[in-house]
Amino acid sequence: MTLTEKILARASGKSHVQPGDNVWVQTDVLLTHDVCGPGTIGVFKREFGEHARVWDREKIVVIPDHYIFTADSLSNRNVDILRDFVREQGIPYFYDVIDDPNGSWKFDASKGQLKRQYGSRYAGVCHTALPEKGHTRPGEVLFGTDSHTCMAGAFALFATGIGNTDAGFIFGTGKLLIKVPATMRFYFEGALGRGVMAKDVILHVIGEIGFDGATYRAMQYEGPGASALNMDDRMTITNMAIEAGGKNGIFPADQTTFDYVDARIRANGTKSDYTPVDLDRDQKFIHDQVIDLSQLEPTVAMHPNPGNRAPAKTLGHIGLDRAYIGSCTGGKTSDFLAFAEIVRGRKLKLDTFGVPATPQVVDDLHKLQMGGESVWSILESAGVQLTENASCAACLGGPGDTFGRLNTPMKCISATNRNFPGRMGNKQSEVFLASPYTVAASALTGKITDPREFL
Ligand code: SF4
Repeated sequence: MTLTEKILARASGKSHVQPGDNVWVQTDVLLTHDVCGPGTIGVFKREFGEHARVWDREKIVVIPDHYIFTADSLSNRNVDILRDFVREQGIPYFYDVIDDPNGSWKFDASKGQLKRQYGSRYAGVCHTALPEKGHTRPGEVLFGTDSHTCMAGAFALFATGIGNTDAGFIFGTGKLLIKVPATMRFYFEGALGRGVMAKDVILHVIGEIGFDGATYRAMQYEGPGASALNMDDRMTITNMAIEAGGKNGIFPADQTTFDYVDARIRANGTKSDYTPVDLDRDQKFIHDQVIDLSQLEPTVAMHPNPGNRAPAKTLGHIGLDRAYIGSCTGGKTSDFLAFAEIVRGRKLKLDTFGVPATPQVVDDLHKLQMGGESVWSILESAGVQLTENASCAACLGGPGDTFGRLNTPMKCISATNRNFPGRMGNKQSEVFLASPYTVAASALTGKITDPREFL
């Protein structure tokens, strides 16, 4: 069996499953956030009763992150709905925006967008926060009310996005009926060249198969090139499984995985026991492809979909209006370090917005230094409008006052993960997906630029 099949077999109490089998699986972690949490709570109460209790309060993780730093009152109220439910159910893992468990959240627009407006437990973007806070363990089953839940597959677990109805059912029962996906394997050989990042790898993969090329399939990454990638790189790659229609993305667990996971579990006191699954010799794949990482180049997914791939060096004729670095995919500490490497000591031409994924990333950027200067200061000096309010921000467009939102038709190069029309705001805008290196180089020149020109 493949990694996904082995995890689903164990979670459904079976010795063997195959693609197409429908199995009831037990949930290890259910994630929800401010956009889908209120709807999920509504489904749960409607179907299980106003006074029903969730199946296991320790296995639910609630992370407000999407529409947080906005004066939109309905968005603010969503966070309050989560808080009321968490208090009623006694759910321990709630990463609230404010510290007062009886308070209510209201973004204060008069304080501006740049200075932090959150309490001590706030965790930022859910998919980046989950591993940071010790909730991703190899071999487990993780469902989330968000399509990029697949990112957690970097930690060798089965992780996939579900709708509010399914999540409401899990609240009540802990179970979900899943059709076992067939697995596509991508076997990585070689090492990434200069100026090439994990984002280029996944944009290349999606370009190979198309933005629907992995529909309802598991995307499994193996080989020496995969083992050499660090956890941030693996997360970038699994994050975008859904951009090819994939049910989940997954890497095998190795020492890199265990070191990351065990350190975060220790730091946060979360559940420490887990049982990884190993790679079998007799795996059957519906697609098996070798990719030599050393042959990849800085890559861009052009408007209007993530599979519309071209090498950055061929797109110099495309002028840009904005650059954006942030999101679960491109707002990690390592992403900002790469960006800073390019822009250090230089001035940006483009209007450029930076949104760290989590408060931990904000702290890292203030503390980490390059040439005696903090990374935060390097970015600001180059001209990045950088906010401490870690969140999804303009990755998903959001209300009109969202930081970095594309409010008029424009061309934006972005380190985010999705570029369907209207994704970052205005429906006439065009979004070009690229690595933090490529976004940085393009922000310097005002047109799509191969970052190797600056390295
Ligand atoms: S950062 Fe973007 S892709 Fe990630 S969870 Fe938020 S809206 Fe979704």
